[in-house]
Amino acid sequence: MTFAAHTGPRLLDSLQEKYSRQILFAGIGEEGQQRLLASSAVIVGCGAIGAAAAGLLVRAGVGRVRILDRDFVESSNLQRQSLFDEDDARSAIPKAVAAERKLRSINSSGAVEGLVSDLNPRNAEELLTGFDLILDGTDNFETRFLINDFAVHAARPWIYAAAVASYGVTMTIRPGLTPCLACLLESSSNGHGLEDTCDTIGVLGPIVNLIASLEVAEALKLLSGRSDALHNRLISSDVWTGHFQSVRVAQNPSCRACVRREFSYLEGQVQPHITLCGRDSVQIHERNRSLDLSALRNKLAPTVSDVRCNEFLLCFRADIYQMTVFADGRAILKGTKDPALARSLYARYIGS
Ligand SMILES: [Zn+2]
Repeated sequence: MTFAAHTGPRLLDSLQEKYSRQILFAGIGEEGQQRLLASSAVIVGCGAIGAAAAGLLVRAGVGRVRILDRDFVESSNLQRQSLFDEDDARSAIPKAVAAERKLRSINSSGAVEGLVSDLNPRNAEELLTGFDLILDGTDNFETRFLINDFAVHAARPWIYAAAVASYGVTMTIRPGLTPCLACLLESSSNGHGLEDTCDTIGVLGPIVNLIASLEVAEALKLLSGRSDALHNRLISSDVWTGHFQSVRVAQNPSCRACVRREFSYLEGQVQPHITLCGRDSVQIHERNRSLDLSALRNKLAPTVSDVRCNEFLLCFRADIYQMTVFADGRAILKGTKDPALARSLYARYIGS
């Protein structure tokens, strides 16, 4: 594909220098770099894949990057989540905040925005609208199907990416032009690995960084105006066995999302008030509730242990449970899968 004419003036010398190796690459060139600088992307989830993808996009000069994440940095993340360090884990900084700080120091010329937020049907439109591309950095299929519903409904491209153990997959979805995630996973026996998570069978740093790299290569094609170069395949890789596969996926002629246009995830029919998130963890969603975290810390201090508090969250241990409360009232309780117990712990420590 060639471009008929330049769409704008030549890049400033400083930008020419900064992105010189990418401009030299024939697939992008100066025209493609200008498009990247004017483009935007939102990354849902800033764990291992999300952090690696965010780093690559910001370094490549994507003009506006929003990062959404609901959790905070822990020491068990550092083995694979490339944007975070021990200081972030010690102070329990939300991943979105830590990512924004680190990315601004890597490339100050773009706009990077980290939002401590849990994507759900109520806020999906507000958080995802206005971006050229959505990238998957999540760790669960409920959120992926929500992104897929939004993207198909709004006719926005998004890139599915997932990894567990030493295995990972990625596929670029362009509504109206390609099959969607529901085509791939809601039919027949394609649900490979749906039950396994990083919390149950672990995950290696190399596979998440490989999958993020494949995801961002596709993002750079889309955002630089080279959608002709997209591979239009589901790519799967296993860095332990050396098994790599690339297959064409067919549209499901009766797909719930992209054919029947039934957006059950976006309409919130499958979003309960309390959700499981990871092994032995429950998330409690609260709406329109603003907490004074330092007052709560002072109140709880005599009865709880391992207290950490910053402007974004309060984290403490009570009995065998670890509780993290965010300023908007949302909480993550580790140590139980029982929603009723989680609700009663929330009422006891935070208030009903
Ligand atoms: Zn579909």
